[in-house]
Formats: sequence, C-alpha cells, structure tokens
Amino acid sequence: MTNYLSDNNWLDFEKSHVWHPYAPVEGALPPYPVKSAAGVTLTLEDGRTLIDGMSSWWSVIHGYNNPSLNKAAKDQLDNMSHVMFGGLTHRPAAELVARLMTITPEPLQRVFLCDSGSVSVEVAIKMAIQYWHAKGRSSKQRMLTIRRGYHGDTTGAMAVCDPETGMHHLFTNILTKHFFADAPTIADDEHWQDEEIDSFRTQIQAHHDEIAAVILEPIVQGAGGMRFYAPEFLRRVRALCDQHEVLLIADEIATGFGRTGKLFACEHAGISPDIMCLGKAITGGYMTMAAVLTTADVSHTISTLPPKAFMHGPTFMANPLACAIANASIDLLLASPWQERIQRMELAFAKHLHPCQAWDGVAQVRYKGGIGVMELAEPVRMESITRRFVDKGVWIRPFGKLVYVMPPFIISQAELDTLLSAMTAAVAEELAGSA
Ligand code: PMP
Repeated sequence: MTNYLSDNNWLDFEKSHVWHPYAPVEGALPPYPVKSAAGVTLTLEDGRTLIDGMSSWWSVIHGYNNPSLNKAAKDQLDNMSHVMFGGLTHRPAAELVARLMTITPEPLQRVFLCDSGSVSVEVAIKMAIQYWHAKGRSSKQRMLTIRRGYHGDTTGAMAVCDPETGMHHLFTNILTKHFFADAPTIADDEHWQDEEIDSFRTQIQAHHDEIAAVILEPIVQGAGGMRFYAPEFLRRVRALCDQHEVLLIADEIATGFGRTGKLFACEHAGISPDIMCLGKAITGGYMTMAAVLTTADVSHTISTLPPKAFMHGPTFMANPLACAIANASIDLLLASPWQERIQRMELAFAKHLHPCQAWDGVAQVRYKGGIGVMELAEPVRMESITRRFVDKGVWIRPFGKLVYVMPPFIISQAELDTLLSAMTAAVAEELAGSA
C-alpha cells in the first residue's frame, strides 16, 4: 500500500488532495491547520491561538471541548454510537424530541430527525408536497420564498436560495422553478409600511394552487446577506399562508437555540410555522444533526393516505450519539444565562461596531442578538483580510462585502473586546490599503 502521508508532510499532502468548501484546489490561501480547540480559542499547529468569532459556522454555541458535552458523548459512545432507525428506536431520540417539543411552539408535535441542515430542508419540502398530495391536491408542488434567502447546498435547497446570488445559473436544468417574492427591506416593526408585503401577497394570490409551502428564514436572512427584517413581515406571511391554504416552513437552522435573543426567531413575531427546520447549534456544534418539526395535522394527513408513510429515511437519521449530545447541549443552554450573554454581545456590537458606520467604505453596520455585521461598500480581499485577522489573533471569515461575527455564547467580555477591536482594526487597515 502506498504511504501517502508522513508526519512532517501532511500539510503538503492535504494541500494537494483535500477539497475545501467554496475554494479552488489551487491558488487559494491555504487553510490554517487547527490542532485543538477549547472554550472560544482555536490553537493552530504552530502554537498560535485565535479567538473564534464564527462558532464554526454558527454552531458551537457553548464553545469547544465542553466538559458536559464531552461527557454526554463519551457515555453514549460506551453504550451505542449508532443503530438504524427503521424499525428500531432508542431513548436518546425520544428524549431529544421531548426537549424540542417543550421549547418550540406548541402545535409542533411530531419530529423527524435527520443528518444536516440542507437535508432537513429537503425533508421539509418533501413533507409539504406529500401533505397536499395526501389531500388530493397534487398540483401543489412548488415553493414560494423570498429573495436573498439561503437554505443549503443540496439540490432541493439550492432551488429555494436567492436566484441571483445562489447557484441557479450553474445548475439550471436540475433546479425546480419556484416562486420568489421581493426580500423584506424594513428592519424593525417601528418603520413598518404595508407595501413591504405587496410582492409576497401578489405571488401567493396568483400561484397558491401550485404552492405547497412558503419557506423562509425567520427574522434573519443569514448566508444570503446577513439581513434582519421586521417581525410584522413574518406575521403577514403567516396570515397569507392561512388565507391561501399554503403551509409555512420556518428555516431556523441558523437562528434556532438563542442566536437572535429569543430561543427561536419565530418568537419575535409570535407565530408558529407548520414545519420548522433546526440544525447547526442543536448539538452545540459537536456533531451533524438536524430536526424537522411539524404539526399533528401534517404528520397524520401524510400517514393516513397512500403511500401512508413519509418517504424519507437517511442511514444516519436520529444517530444516538448526536441525540445524546443534543440533549446535553439543550440542557446546558437552558441552564445558562444565555439571554444575558446575547445581550452582552449586542452591547459590545453597539460599542465597537456602531461607530464604524461613519467610515468611508462601510456601507452599513447592523447587529441583532449575537450577530454583528459590517457591510462594506466593496467586496473584501479575502486573503489579505484573513491574514490580518489571524495576525491579530482572531478567526473571522467574511464573505462578499460582509465582515461579521457570531461568537460562541460563552465568550467573555474581555474576549469580545479583543475580537471586535481586531475586527474593526483589520477592516480599517484594509480600507486604508485600498484607498
Ligand atoms: N438553512 C440555513 C438558514 C443555513 O444558514 C444553513 C447553513 N448555513 C443551511 C440551511 C444548511 O445547513 P447545512 O450547512 O448544515 O447543510
């Protein structure tokens, strides 16, 4: 057998053979090797440490190497790491579903546990279509969504991402044509104007016979642009869905488990969706796992009429190890002062980021809960800004014109100050350099 790897060449090997997301195989800034992580700190192979502003794509809310989550993982590992879910079940899954039912809106009573955020979006879309099929309304097979959304990279999910900034142009013939309404633009209820919902209303009125569900990210549009919108928009969407016999899917994969200052972003509007997708922080970022919650109406309707089953079953659904960690993560969250921690982040964003609003080259500063965003006038130069962040001892990964942070909830005041000072200093240097 060829020995491709030795202790001292593994990084050269990885550079030549390992694929990274959204990156060319050659010519990009090589990824930084992480040796270990604890709390909010990543330690690189060369010994440098970085304060993590990304929570590993928004999932590691309790920080790394957390003793309770480690214990939950080890205990479950010693018992059973995996077992198929077809025809079998296990206590960690039931416990997770019980916890999810307790903390989400009451009508959500039935839970399908699957493997990742994108897969949960596929599951939600299929659920909505099967619901209407079971009701004899097979013409309802399309989705209505809002522009600037992001729902994942699998085929079904890509089709409901923003049609311009998403990947539609690359995969035209395999992406279902869905309906798109204008993205909301008003950031809070105070400035609400009825015209805000016009485009959405026009779409749902015109096409409801073909629409199985509306899918959207409640309150925060994440990877599609880090924008926040008024809860009133969501309330209007809920009412229009009811009026036109369309289900509402809330993609809370990024917002779920406290990030916006409420446990779930739908709470800002006081609404309940018919289907809710959860992922990312569900296991505190330890393992891949997602959940699709729905109502008794949706689950019973699907189950009582042919094919009398929901047609989805991933190999690793309801993985016991992930369930056990998710249970520990939810307990840890609920026992923690998470609202105060989120509030502390908001105050720090106000102190450090808000003043940058006045800078030339900064288009807008915005923040909500544990999400702090600087939108620049021009796209960042990825390599040079990344180097600046790392040189200053922080890990921040911008995209496009957006430099943003979503730190682990456990970040201390001092760590927050360091993280945000480094963020603003690196942006200032970049802007000065490009002037
Ligand atoms: N929906 C939303 C709102 C997301 O933010 C993401 C991930 N950024 C996804 C879906 C896809 O989740 P995953 O990357 O786990 O497939």
